[in-house]
Amino acid sequence: MTDVPMVLAEGVSKSFGSNQVLKSISLEVRRGEVMCLLGPSGSGKSTFLRCINHLEVLSAGRLSVDGELIGFREVGGKLYEMHPREAARQRRDIGMVFQRFNLFPHMTAVENVMEAPVLVKGQPKAQVRQRALELLDRVGLAERADYYPAHLSGGQQQRVAIARALAMEPKLMLFDEPTSALDPELVGEVLDVMKGLASSGMTMIVVTHEMGFAREVADELVFMDGGVVVESGDPREVLSNPKHERTQAFLSKVL
Ligand code: ADP
Ligand code: MG
Repeated sequence: MTDVPMVLAEGVSKSFGSNQVLKSISLEVRRGEVMCLLGPSGSGKSTFLRCINHLEVLSAGRLSVDGELIGFREVGGKLYEMHPREAARQRRDIGMVFQRFNLFPHMTAVENVMEAPVLVKGQPKAQVRQRALELLDRVGLAERADYYPAHLSGGQQQRVAIARALAMEPKLMLFDEPTSALDPELVGEVLDVMKGLASSGMTMIVVTHEMGFAREVADELVFMDGGVVVESGDPREVLSNPKHERTQAFLSKVL
């Protein structure tokens, strides 16, 4: 099973009313790989990530994670949307970190990290707490376990959010502009945690405009515009020698 891609998108399309936001996206992320997604605002990056964990329902095409079709069952060659409970089960294996940290404000860092495993997996509290403390240590926040989000910096909150996603032991992590809301001096500490995660072998899709991160960490860079993949390849190659005019125009603005 190890040659089954972690993410396989085949002709993924998504429309909101008459607005076709994704136009037949096909791509593959292999196990342990990091893919960076890049593209102008409105190009469909967030929508694509949301399709991967079935927060959006595809209009056409198919998506699988670790060989399992997401959001649909195939019966006699036809696709039927699955029960929300089943979709929720699939979603547990896919960690997501957003631009805004969305921590529960009334819970401490460690309580935030413990919430899902206790609630969803029903694991014993002491064991979950131990594991949550290990995860906070891993993101460099062992000392901040009992702090409330309001007393943590944006970078620290985002690292708690990463620990919280990891607490569910996902096989895939999706990051949607995880550093865009941070003050510049806090970006590095979050990217460092993500680098560590990548080198531990986590499969990741990262929407980011941090070109240094993409160049250093990504196995593949995908440039999207207008709901299509315009160009993809080795990040160093795409960044230093973009082939398409639209990629060149975009990079000339952000680099
Ligand atoms: P990006 O993340 O690349 O900036 P998005 O995926 O957020 O792009 O948005 C792509 C397009 O889809 C935009 O035109 C946006 O207005 C539209 N869109 C996204 N979500 C919805 C929604 N829930 N309903 C209607 N239109 C949406
Ligand atoms: Mg977005």
